Amino acid sequence: AEGFTIVASTDADAIRPVPPDVGTCASCERELFDRADLRYRHPFITCTDCGPRYTIIDDLPYDRERTSMKSFVPCARCAAEYASPSNRRFHAETVACHSCGPRVWLEDVDGAPRGVGDAAIMLAATALRVGAIVALRGLGGFHLAVDATNDAAVRRLRERKHRDAKPLAVMVRTFDDARAIADLSASEAALLRSSARPIVLVRLRSDASLARALAPGLDRVGVMLVYTPLHHLLLEAVARPLVMTSGNLSEEPIAIGLDEGRERLRPLSDLFLLHDREILSRCDDSVVRVAGAHAVIQRRARGYAPLPVRLPVAAPQTIIAVGPHLKNTFTLVRGDQAFVSPHIGDLEGLEALEHWRQSYDRYRTLFRIEPAVAVRDLHPGYLSSRVADELALSRTISVQHHHAHIAAVAAEHGVTVPVVGLAFDGTGYGDDGDVWGGEVLVADLAGYRRAAQLRYVSLPGGDLAAREPWRVALGYEALAGAQARAFSLAYYGVPITTRVGAGQQLARGVNAPLASSMGRLFDAAAAVLGVRRYASFEGQAAMELEALAGDQPATPLPFPIIEGGDRLILDPVPLLIALGEGRQHGVEVSLLAARFHESIAHAAAEAARRVATDAGIDTVALGGGSFQNARLLTSIERRLTKARLRVLVARALGPNDGAISYGQAAVAAWRMAHE
Ligand code: ZN
Ligand code: ZN
Ligand code: FE
Repeated sequence: AEGFTIVASTDADAIRPVPPDVGTCASCERELFDRADLRYRHPFITCTDCGPRYTIIDDLPYDRERTSMKSFVPCARCAAEYASPSNRRFHAETVACHSCGPRVWLEDVDGAPRGVGDAAIMLAATALRVGAIVALRGLGGFHLAVDATNDAAVRRLRERKHRDAKPLAVMVRTFDDARAIADLSASEAALLRSSARPIVLVRLRSDASLARALAPGLDRVGVMLVYTPLHHLLLEAVARPLVMTSGNLSEEPIAIGLDEGRERLRPLSDLFLLHDREILSRCDDSVVRVAGAHAVIQRRARGYAPLPVRLPVAAPQTIIAVGPHLKNTFTLVRGDQAFVSPHIGDLEGLEALEHWRQSYDRYRTLFRIEPAVAVRDLHPGYLSSRVADELALSRTISVQHHHAHIAAVAAEHGVTVPVVGLAFDGTGYGDDGDVWGGEVLVADLAGYRRAAQLRYVSLPGGDLAAREPWRVALGYEALAGAQARAFSLAYYGVPITTRVGAGQQLARGVNAPLASSMGRLFDAAAAVLGVRRYASFEGQAAMELEALAGDQPATPLPFPIIEGGDRLILDPVPLLIALGEGRQHGVEVSLLAARFHESIAHAAAEAARRVATDAGIDTVALGGGSFQNARLLTSIERRLTKARLRVLVARALGPNDGAISYGQAAVAAWRMAHE
């Protein structure tokens, strides 16, 4: 499984990095279930090889006094193991046992105690087996747990969490349990069992006895192996796979504190399984999927953060890059070391802002970096931009969103020469004030030129279009002239008055911004194919189209590339017309979904090839959330490789907006170093 361990590059000469949390090791797991062992069924068993690190460290150097374990004074036996060089727990800062370690207990939603220790775990397990929702204080924050085989219980969790359709992750106890629910490739198995213990998006077995409500309309589900002793004990007692989803409401930050968890999760849960070891840093579960030869990170957090990522050029001054508006991370830089925060979430609302500031303060303390320069997005209205401006540092640098995407990929590969960048995602603020997202850039860390783009379409309703794919289809229909009828399946179930209103927005150019977004093109295709007119989360339509397409072979449909003055224009209107007509003539929707993917891959690779030839460039970097689509990624990569181009794919940070802050930092560091 070489190539499937995701370890950020570290510099031996740099300050000792704060270690990430490590899943329970095999030796500790054995002792946990060994009646003869001192730590038999101890929910906080750890050793030097495993256990919490980043989430409990208050400051460096890493020793117990500067962690949230400091309130648990080791007993004589633990202290002896800590002091014995031959022991596995020699200098294990988190060593603890039943007599000296943290405690677990169970509470009902009114705070009334229901059990302590093993009894608490057993009671929680019993409740889970009859469909209860348990809020569980875990390693990097609260989880909401529910029986993953109980459809009604999973639906209830969705309702309470206000999460209609987004897939929910499942935790299983053993590797065999994982194989019982999913078909695993060797690389998926390796990721699943790696000590970072990420959620791996895998293909469900057709005979898996899991609730249908886990991932409606999709063929993949997120699976992870247990990674703390508490989860081990709970899953052993339940003897079923459990949904383990972040303890939050939709895209809010995950809850960590006892009182915070009680307050925020009371409306969502039936019981609280709690413990008294403080979580000092929030850290969600990481999410990874395998695409061809790549492990593609979708959310970088527990197990990977806060390992630093190298920059190709050392920054002359310290930097805080505040990151994007959605799926935010930030990056602190000293020299050539970039400390990318774990996934924070969407920067919307005061709570998210408060969480951002807390994480930022914690990072400044942990890495002893006092930033001199702030880096932000071009968009003046984002909360992230406001945050950057409020820091009031001596200097603020703005970086365009898609430039940051390409810079992130190039920088992590140490590439500083110009590349052709395919920057495909849902939304980013363009330097012309329009919505970008289907861009071919010629870029290096210093700057970029927009060499090709998706043809602009008006989005009636603006931001609403990201949740209502039919609106994007309506925008494209306005460009289709006599062939507008091909779009007729897109509006089924849309109230006529709403549609007329959107038509007026288009005609008058009111609240109908121009967009060249790849994400919206996927939405339009899903609508035109009659797959989805309304989405409950951004990207849902694209995920469904990918699931429909599967691996079936397909040829491209017409997707012309037009000379448009100073740049090439990729015109998807003929493609959408072909999809709509095909569907109306009864062509299988799965085949059309496959042909749609190949059309985009073909046109994108062709545009990249032309731009590369013109500019004398031999390298193409792929950045942006659209590259979480495995079929799109592998098909574009295959075509580019065939055209003898070198392809750079996001590795350490993933292709989506989680990498933006690192890209911003890379651009700023380069500019500062070269002025
Ligand atoms: Zn261990
Ligand atoms: Zn002890
Ligand atoms: Fe993006």
